[in-house]
Amino acid sequence: MTALQPVRGTRDLIGEDFRRHHAVGEAARHVSALYGFEEWATPVFEDTRVFARGLGDSSDVVMKEMYTFEDRGGDSLTLRPEMTAGVCRALVSNGLTQSNLPRKVFYAGPMFRYERPQKGRYRQFHQIGIEVLGAAEPLADAEVIACGWDILVALGVSEGTVLEINTLGDAQSRDAYRAALVAYFDAHREALSQDSRVRLEKNPLRILDSKDEGDRAIVAGAPLIGDHLSPAAAAFYAAVKGYLAGFGVPFRENPRIVRGLDYYSHTAFEFVTDRLGAQGTVMAGGRYNGLVEEMGGPATPSVGWAAGMERLAMLLPEAPEAPRAVAVIPAGDAAEGPAIEVLRELRAAGVAAEIGYRGNLKRRMERANKSGAFAAVIIGDAEIAEGNVVVRDLLEGTQDKVPRTEMLRALAETAGGLEAMQAVITEMVADQMAEQAGQTP
Ligand code: ATP
Ligand code: MG
Repeated sequence: MTALQPVRGTRDLIGEDFRRHHAVGEAARHVSALYGFEEWATPVFEDTRVFARGLGDSSDVVMKEMYTFEDRGGDSLTLRPEMTAGVCRALVSNGLTQSNLPRKVFYAGPMFRYERPQKGRYRQFHQIGIEVLGAAEPLADAEVIACGWDILVALGVSEGTVLEINTLGDAQSRDAYRAALVAYFDAHREALSQDSRVRLEKNPLRILDSKDEGDRAIVAGAPLIGDHLSPAAAAFYAAVKGYLAGFGVPFRENPRIVRGLDYYSHTAFEFVTDRLGAQGTVMAGGRYNGLVEEMGGPATPSVGWAAGMERLAMLLPEAPEAPRAVAVIPAGDAAEGPAIEVLRELRAAGVAAEIGYRGNLKRRMERANKSGAFAAVIIGDAEIAEGNVVVRDLLEGTQDKVPRTEMLRALAETAGGLEAMQAVITEMVADQMAEQAGQTP
C-alpha cells in the first residue's frame, strides 16, 4: 500500500522540531504568567459567524483563507484561523463581561488558514497570544507590547527583531482618513489589483495591507493616518509611546502598519525580523474596540497580539537539547525486580529513568550510550546481596559501586548529573542544610 503523507501545508513536530516548538510555548507561558495573564483554551472549531463577524468580511482571512465546512447536522463551522475572536466569544458565552475586568488571557494552540505554503507559512500553524479584555487605557497597550518583547528576550530572539508601531486612530480619525484614502485610490483605480478594487468599495484601509506589487507602488504615495488624527487619538498614541519608554521597549514608528483584520483601532504594532525572508512578521497585534460587541456582549475595549510559533521556533539561536535520563540496567533475570524498584525510586525523586525491555548486559550498555543517558545504574546478583548498586558515568566512562542509599548522591556527582538533576540536587542541598541547622547547638 502507498504510504500516506501529511496534508499540504501541515507538518509533524518530531524531535528537535518539537523541542523548539515546546520551548517557545513554555517561555511565553512563563513570561505571560509573570505579567498576570491566565491561560485559556477555547475550541479549535467555532460557529462560522464567530470569525465572519469578528474578523470582518473584507479581511483576507475571511474572504480567502478559512477552512469552513458544514457538519453532519448542517451547521456551518470553521477551523479557527486565529484566537482573538474565539476568546471574545468565550468571554461573552461564559458571562464574564461584567465582573473582574480587565481579564488578562494567554493562549497557545493550532490555527488553520488556507494559504499557499512556503517557509514560515503553513495551513496548520500555531500561535501564542495574549489579550487584555476590558481596558481602555494606553497603559494596557504598552504592557501588552512589553510582555511580547520580554518573551522575545526570554527566547533570545529580540536581537534582530524590531518593534514597529502605528496608530489607526479612533472612529473620528478613521472617518477623516478613509475619505482621504478613497479620494486618493479612486484617482488610481485603473492601476489597482482586482482585489483592491473590491477593497476600495468595502474597506479602503485594507488596500494598505495588500501584498500585490502594483498595489504596493500606489500605496507608497497614499495619505498617512498621522495627518488625520483627532486630538484624543493623538494623545492616546503619545501616551502609549511614553509608557513603552518606561518599560524599556525599543520601537520604531511605521505609519504604514495596518493590521490584516478589520477590528483594530488606535495602537497597531508588529515585531519584524529580516531573518525569515518574506515571512518577517513574528508577532502582531493592536487595540480592538468593537469585537466583544460583535459577539453579543457589551462594549469591551481590548488589546492583544498573536505570534507565529513556527517563525519564533525558526529564530531560536539553538535547539533545546533532549533531556538526559538514567539508564537502569539489570544484569541477569533475578535483577529485574530490584531494577524496577530502582526505577521507581529515581522517578519518585524526579529523575528521568529508563529500562531497556530486552538484551544482555552488553547490548543494554550500548543502547544506554546511544540513548544519550548521562549515567547508568547497574544492578546484578552481587549488588543485590550487598545492598549496593553500580553507578556508571556514561560521559566520563568511569564507575563506582555505592550503597543503594547513596545512589542519588552518586548520580548527582557524575559529569552530566548536575544539569540533568538540577531540581533534585537543590532539594538534596536543602535537606542537608536543614539537617545541619538541626545539629547546631
Ligand atoms: P502575514 O502578513 O504573514 O500573512 P497576518 O497578518 O495574516 O500575517 P496575523 O493574523 O496577524 O498574521 O497572525 C499573527 C502571526 O501569526 C503572524 O505575524 C505570523 O507570525 C503568524 N502567522 C500568520 N499566518 C501564518 C501562517 N499561515 N503560517 C505560519 N504563521 C502564521
Ligand atoms: Mg496572512
